Amino acid sequence: MLSWLKRSLTKNTADAPQSLSPGDEPFVYSRDDHNISRSNISENALKVLYRLKKSGYESYLVGGGVRDLLLGREPKDFDVSTDATPEEVRKLFRNCRLIGRRFRLAHVHYGREIIEVATFRASHKADDDAGKMENGLILRDNVYGTLEDDAWRRDFTVNALYYDISDFTVVDYTGGMDDLDEGRLRVIGEPQARYREDPVRMLRAVRFAAKMGFRLEQESEAAIFELGYLLEDVVAARLFDEVLKMFQGGYGVETFELLRHYRLFGYLFPETDAGMQHEENGFPLVFVAKALENTDARVEQGKPITPAFLLAAFLWEPVRKEAELFRRKGMSDLEAMQLAGDAVVARQVRTVAFPKRFSLQSREMWTMQERLRRRGGKSPLRLVEHPRFRAAYDLLLLRAQCGEEVQELADWWTRFQEVDQEERLSMCAAIRTPRGGGGGRRKPRRRPPRKKPATD
Ligand code: ATP
Ligand code: MG
Repeated sequence: MLSWLKRSLTKNTADAPQSLSPGDEPFVYSRDDHNISRSNISENALKVLYRLKKSGYESYLVGGGVRDLLLGREPKDFDVSTDATPEEVRKLFRNCRLIGRRFRLAHVHYGREIIEVATFRASHKADDDAGKMENGLILRDNVYGTLEDDAWRRDFTVNALYYDISDFTVVDYTGGMDDLDEGRLRVIGEPQARYREDPVRMLRAVRFAAKMGFRLEQESEAAIFELGYLLEDVVAARLFDEVLKMFQGGYGVETFELLRHYRLFGYLFPETDAGMQHEENGFPLVFVAKALENTDARVEQGKPITPAFLLAAFLWEPVRKEAELFRRKGMSDLEAMQLAGDAVVARQVRTVAFPKRFSLQSREMWTMQERLRRRGGKSPLRLVEHPRFRAAYDLLLLRAQCGEEVQELADWWTRFQEVDQEERLSMCAAIRTPRGGGGGRRKPRRRPPRKKPATD
C-alpha cells in the first residue's frame, strides 16, 4: 500500500527522529516524493492559492484536502492556510466573505464552491489560560501564529500536512506522512488535553477512523474511553453538525460501530442507546444499522438523503415504545404516535439539536406508519402523493426487514406504487374495512370485567 510514500519516507527520514516535537525542523517532501498533482486540485482552490502567493503571502493547501489527495481519494473540499489576515484576504477577492464568531475565516465563493481561507493560528500556551475555562475547554481560539504554530494546533497528524503552492512540496511538522502510510490516526500533542480542549475531536477521531479505515494510535484511543462524558458539555447545535458528517458521509455503518465501541453513541442518542442495552433479539441495533446501510448505499449511488430519515430511524424504537404506553392509556393509535413522537424529539434535541424542519418531517414519517395501515376507501390514493410518503414507505420496509409484523403491508404498498390507477382502486376495494373505513386499525380494547368482591 502507498508504495510511493514508503519510498519517499525511507529516502527522507533515514535520520529522522521517531517523533517530532514543536521546534523541530519539519520533514519536507519534494514534488517527486508525493503523489499530489495540481490536476486533482479544484481550479478555484488553485486560483486562491496562486493569487495569495502572487500578492506576497504564503499559501498552502491543508487539512482533509491534502490528506485525501495523498490517499488517492477525491477531497470533499479544499481548505487554504495563509499568513494573510482575513481582512487582507478580503481585499484580494471580490467574492469573499468573512465568517465565524469563534475565529474569523475568509470564504471565497465560486458559484457553489467555497474555498475556506484561514490565517495561521497558534494554540493557547499552556501557561496562558486567558482563552480557557477551568476544565480546559477552549473559549477563544483566534490567536494568529506561524505555519509551525498552525500545524501544532490542528487535531490529527494526518490533518496537519501542508501542500506548498510555491514549490509543490508537502511540509510535515508532526509526522503525519508516517502515520498516513501506516494507516494510523494520532492526536497531535497530549490526547487527554486535546480532547478536553475540544471534546468534538473524539467524534472526529471516530469519523476519520471509519472513513479511512485507519486505526487509532494507542493513547489517542485510550483517552476516548476515559473522556467520552465530556461530550455532555458540547453545544447541541454543534453536535448536530457532527452527527450529519458522521452519518451522511457514506460511512455511517462503520462510524456507528466505532461510536458504540468507544461508548460515545449514548452521548448523542441516549434513548436509542438505552434501548440497545436492554434489547430483545437485537431489534433496535439491527434497525439502526440497517437504516445506516440504506443511507450509505444512497450516498454511494448519489441519491438524495435527509437528516429527517436518520432521526426517524434512530428514534423509531423509543417512539414505538412510548406510543404503546399512550395507547394503553386509551389514546387512538394516531394520537399516541403523535404525542410519543413529540415527547421523544423534545428530549432528543436537548442533546443533538436537529432543527425543527427535520424533526417535523420525522414526525410525519412516524404518524404515516399508522396511516399506511388504513387502506380502505380512497385514502391510499392521496397518501401515495404525500411529500413524505416515500420516506415513510422506506421506514416501513425497514421495519419489515427487521422482523416487525408489517411484511404483508409493505408488500401491498410496494405493489400499489407499481400498478395503474384502475388497479389501485381495485386494490383498495379488496381491503375489507371495518365500519368507519379504518382498515387495519386495532380493535378497541375492552376493559376486563371488574372482579366482583368476594362474598364469602
Ligand atoms: P473533511 O472535510 O473530509 O470532513 P477535514 O479534515 O478537512 O475533513 P474539516 O472539518 O474540514 O475536516 O477541518 C479542516 C481542518 O481543520 C482539519 O483537517 C484539521 O486540520 C483542522 N480542524 C478541524 N476541526 C478541528 C478541531 N476541532 N481541532 C483542531 N483542528 C481542527
Ligand atoms: Mg475539509
